[in-house]
Amino acid sequence: MAKRIIIVGGGTGGTMTANILASKLDSEIRNGQVTITLLSDSPVHVYQPAFLYLAFDRFYEDEFTRSERDLLRPEIDFVVDKTTGIDFKSCFVQGASGKKYQYDYLVLSTGSYPDPSAIPGLEKGGDWFYTQEGAKKLAKKIASFEKGRILLSVGVPHKCPVAPLEVIFMLNDYFKAKGIRKNIELYYTYPIARLHALEPVANWAVGMFEKEGIKSETFFNMESVDPEKKTLSTLEGSEVPYDLLIAIPPHKGADIIVDSGLSKSGWIPTDKQTLKVTGYDNVYALGDGTDLPISKAGSTAHFEADVVAENLTSEIKSGYPAHFYDGRVLCFIETGLHEGTYVWFSYTTPPNPAPPSKLIHWMKLSFNRIYWMAARGLM
Ligand SMILES: Cc1cc2nc3c(=O)[nH]c(=O)nc-3n(C[C@H](O)[C@H](O)[C@H](O)COP(=O)(O)OP(=O)(O)OC[C@H]3O[C@@H](n4cnc5c(N)ncnc54)[C@H](O)[C@@H]3O)c2cc1C
Repeated sequence: MAKRIIIVGGGTGGTMTANILASKLDSEIRNGQVTITLLSDSPVHVYQPAFLYLAFDRFYEDEFTRSERDLLRPEIDFVVDKTTGIDFKSCFVQGASGKKYQYDYLVLSTGSYPDPSAIPGLEKGGDWFYTQEGAKKLAKKIASFEKGRILLSVGVPHKCPVAPLEVIFMLNDYFKAKGIRKNIELYYTYPIARLHALEPVANWAVGMFEKEGIKSETFFNMESVDPEKKTLSTLEGSEVPYDLLIAIPPHKGADIIVDSGLSKSGWIPTDKQTLKVTGYDNVYALGDGTDLPISKAGSTAHFEADVVAENLTSEIKSGYPAHFYDGRVLCFIETGLHEGTYVWFSYTTPPNPAPPSKLIHWMKLSFNRIYWMAARGLM
């Protein structure tokens, strides 16, 4: 009987894993020894990094969405059916349609989601660019903002660790280009004692903030927002007035992770090297949904997809997994509207931001356009 591989999640990690696997197991699929099914709750694939640009009217829906079916190799079965339960003992996934999907191997790439409801008042008093609707709404506010304080506040955990810095640098350039930067106070805050979780990035940002006149406050953890008074109160006791509040809401894992009993925290317990789910030898996890101590980023999911696909291939061809994830992450960082830098790091190698340049900015913009090739498993 064919080995059945079920992948849950039609985002970055799930799509890449499915396509890489289908190419590696091409002959087994043709011979009827392996089937690959990808289950997702939406027929549409969304390239989320575009939301940062959407907030500045620099990326549009027809550019950052594709039909998931069109991104997948034809030999992959694609089914739009939200997973509502997983029986790890009997090895099946329960779909909202009522259908059960039996598996020999299961891959979970179910993502992470901003949860503004975790901070009282934030839904009414704040804005964010971490969802499509949020970024669209924020774009209008940025376009009409003329003077006052823009307060940026960061909840944890959250995906794309560098996006808070990117948005503040882009706001800086946007208002400079509009000729009204002097009327606007950019007030960046961060939950720990420095400007960013990655220490070399935090140290590098200090110089950029001084040069560009961006104000900052650290040890700043959102407690509640008063939408009428337009103030944000913190767990540390400060109350900061704002004219526009841009928040990165704290994130949570997909509901199915708690609902299936896999974990109470909502994050998937995952082995940092093999990417197997703790306690289940035939289940792998990747992407934002894992509990790994690394950045929740598309590049993380990209590197992990290679490892999961290689391990499943070696399990099927040789009988055991033989590949290990080293914690590799690559993040491009916009340092404005015209320049960028990047950081590369792993479990053992700290990041080291390169000097900002136009070239790196163009590399980031180029990747935004060729992402679809990466999703297809072609790079
Ligand atoms: C504003 C912003 C900027 C970003 N910038 C960058 C960047 O510059 N560089 C970078 O590397 N990363 C960036 N990212 C992060 C990147 O988009 C994510 O890290 C990446 O998408 C994670 O992939 P994933 O497969 O784990 O999750 P996702 O891509 O979110 O996919 C999860 C999928 O699971 C599906 N799903 C969830 N629950 C179920 C269920 N019960 N049943 C069926 N399907 C389900 C969802 O519909 C979705 O399709 C950014 C993100 C945002 C929001």
